[in-house]
Amino acid sequence: MQADAGVVGIGGVPQLDWLKELPATALDPAGGLHCSPTGRVHGLRGIWAVGDVASWDDPDDGRPHRHEHWTSAGDQAAVVAHDILGAPPPSSTVPYFWSDQFGLKIQLIGRPELADPGPLVPLHGAGLDGGPVRGTVAAYTAGSRVVAVAGFGAARYVVRYRALVAAGATEADARAQAADLT
Ligand SMILES: Cc1cc2nc3c(=O)[nH]c(=O)nc-3n(C[C@H](O)[C@H](O)[C@H](O)COP(=O)(O)OP(=O)(O)OC[C@H]3O[C@@H](n4cnc5c(N)ncnc54)[C@H](O)[C@@H]3O)c2cc1C
Repeated sequence: MQADAGVVGIGGVPQLDWLKELPATALDPAGGLHCSPTGRVHGLRGIWAVGDVASWDDPDDGRPHRHEHWTSAGDQAAVVAHDILGAPPPSSTVPYFWSDQFGLKIQLIGRPELADPGPLVPLHGAGLDGGPVRGTVAAYTAGSRVVAVAGFGAARYVVRYRALVAAGATEADARAQAADLT
């Protein structure tokens, strides 16, 4: 894939020195507090963790992941609150972030790292074909499933794909949604 410019999201490293007395089960070797899919810290009864420091086991690939996004911290807090109360979990969400770069809102919904290598699926705009980046929305797929959607200056479209990605929609579903929206 060719691009005129790249934006690198480097991420951060949690400072866990002050927690080094915790049992090894509570710490993810990749960095973070290792938690169940509902935020319970492994090996620590009655302790949950959310946000950047929390490395939750992912039912999709069985591995722990940290999602360093504003909305993830809030979404995880809702899951934890339900778990503490013994209530059924809230409806599932997917990771989401936005970043405003030089007047362009970049948004990403879902898990692009789960996608197959290969071209993205264009949904809106012409950015993938060398046209204007603004207004472009594209899907990442794994098999026929859409695992992530990225948008550039296309907030009114991107928001419409969040439920689709959370529901494990197919590429055909996403293309049908795109046709409905344009
Ligand atoms: C420069 C920057 C830009 C970002 N831009 C975006 C963006 O555009 N979109 C997006 O989705 N996300 C963005 N993020 C990520 C987002 O800010 C985080 O994912 C989110 O704030 C995580 O929430 P949190 O509650 O886990 O941690 P935080 O918001 O970092 O809160 C942790 C709090 O704990 C406090 N604390 C730390 N240690 C201790 C201690 N020992 N005792 C008591 N208090 C302590 C800290 O002071 C802090 O107030 C950005 C992050 C950075 C750094």
